[in-house]
Amino acid sequence: MSMVSGPRLRVDLSTLPRYIPGRAAVGDPEYKLSSNELPYEPLPSVREAVRAELGQFHRYPDPGSTELVAALAERLRVPGEHIVPGTGSVAVTHHLVRAVAGEGDEVLFAWRSFEAYPLITWAAGATPVQVPLAAEGHDLDAMADAVTGRTRLIFVCNPNNPTGTPVRRAELDRFLDRVPRDVLVVLDEAYREFVRDPEVPDGIEVHLRHPHVAVLRTFSKAYGLARLRVGYAVAHPPVAAALRACAVPFGVSGPAQAAALASLRAGSELDERVERIVRERERVGGELRAQGWQLPHSEANFVWLRLGRRTAAFTAVCEDAGLMVRPYPDEGVRITIGTPAANDRFLKVAGAWQH
Ligand code: PMP
Repeated sequence: MSMVSGPRLRVDLSTLPRYIPGRAAVGDPEYKLSSNELPYEPLPSVREAVRAELGQFHRYPDPGSTELVAALAERLRVPGEHIVPGTGSVAVTHHLVRAVAGEGDEVLFAWRSFEAYPLITWAAGATPVQVPLAAEGHDLDAMADAVTGRTRLIFVCNPNNPTGTPVRRAELDRFLDRVPRDVLVVLDEAYREFVRDPEVPDGIEVHLRHPHVAVLRTFSKAYGLARLRVGYAVAHPPVAAALRACAVPFGVSGPAQAAALASLRAGSELDERVERIVRERERVGGELRAQGWQLPHSEANFVWLRLGRRTAAFTAVCEDAGLMVRPYPDEGVRITIGTPAANDRFLKVAGAWQH
């Protein structure tokens, strides 16, 4: 018998980058500004929809999320065949990469961007190719230049996490014209509902014009359902079918389907919450600039401060004030827009910082 210490794992596993979630709330969760969540509790109609599920926990959920898909199809004006829900959009992202890329293939994205991209790429056995941001935004010309015969998928995070910067219509159109039709371009629109710049295109409309474009959206952010884990892709039928083939059966739970459906029907109540966050984002951005900070204009529900080597020190003063923020070591800090009280507390800390 050979001496083995356990099952053999993939040798490249030890090199996998880890997903670092926003730190768990210490103290009052109202001041947790580290995970881009909405600071509002679920709406009564959403609670009611989840409550109605309680007596059904012994049954599997609808595997196709039929009602949710139909409601999304109507809302987005796309055929239901294009919509594939999953356990948070991050799960759908895993399935997308798995569906198109494997060993020897390249997955291209800006850096820094959503930190799950390199992890998901490695998990699929493919190779990440990272193109540095320019002026905190996507450098789409450089990204198009970086496309090779091995490129299978390109992420465009719009607006970008963690910088909040958007990609606008003209530059995206120019980019899409340059990308070969056999490369899948994935517009990750996790923060779409917070966008107010009219020059930022709606990914669904871009998707409908381009057979090689898919869109990712989520109920975790603007819809305030982060804990329930539900998001979806909008993809053309061949890609959507491949996604369904790669998905985990019964991935989206019954309560998640019910809550997402109720949220879609909530209409103006949810819109008003998002509007409040957008107003606060503009207020926080304006006050930070008045305090002397330089920051990119954010179209998402967070702001980005490039603090470089002072990142850890700034994070520490935030924590001393009871604020949880999201540091990216030696790069910067991302601060989620919260309630006015949480934002005020953050502005006080930022105002006292010696530049
Ligand atoms: N995409 C981006 C850009 C994100 O920032 C996030 C959440 N941090 C996600 C996708 C994933 O969201 P979820 O899995 O909760 O739908």
